[in-house]
Amino acid sequence: MHEWALAEAVIATVIEYSRKEGLEEVTKIKLKIGELQQMDIEIFEFALNEIAKVQGTPLTEMKVEMDIERAVFRCRVCRNKWGLGETTGMTEEESEAIHFAPEAAHAYINCPSCGSPDFEVLRGRGVSIEYIKGRD
Ligand SMILES: [Zn+2]
Repeated sequence: MHEWALAEAVIATVIEYSRKEGLEEVTKIKLKIGELQQMDIEIFEFALNEIAKVQGTPLTEMKVEMDIERAVFRCRVCRNKWGLGETTGMTEEESEAIHFAPEAAHAYINCPSCGSPDFEVLRGRGVSIEYIKGRD
């Protein structure tokens, strides 16, 4: 149900934006989905379309485009930045665990440059709206 709650939040934001901007129709929205976001994209897309349908105007013609935002980690010790694919020594099972529980990342990932486990996640979490297009 996590996907539905997220979809509802996105739609609420889109509607608020369209009111503020005086849009009669929202034609397209583009979303960024973090690589570490625990979510079923298909269910999410389905939920977005269903909720938009129930809302009717101004979302009747809305198209949804999604981009996956790659995860970026930054080491707090040496400031090195790297992505999920560049993390060495991780088994497939471990990388799967990270996708499904981002907080597990710290248990498996070390900085590839200095080996420190002390890093922050700069990108690749959550869902954000990149843009909303429409006509007034
Ligand atoms: Zn480092």
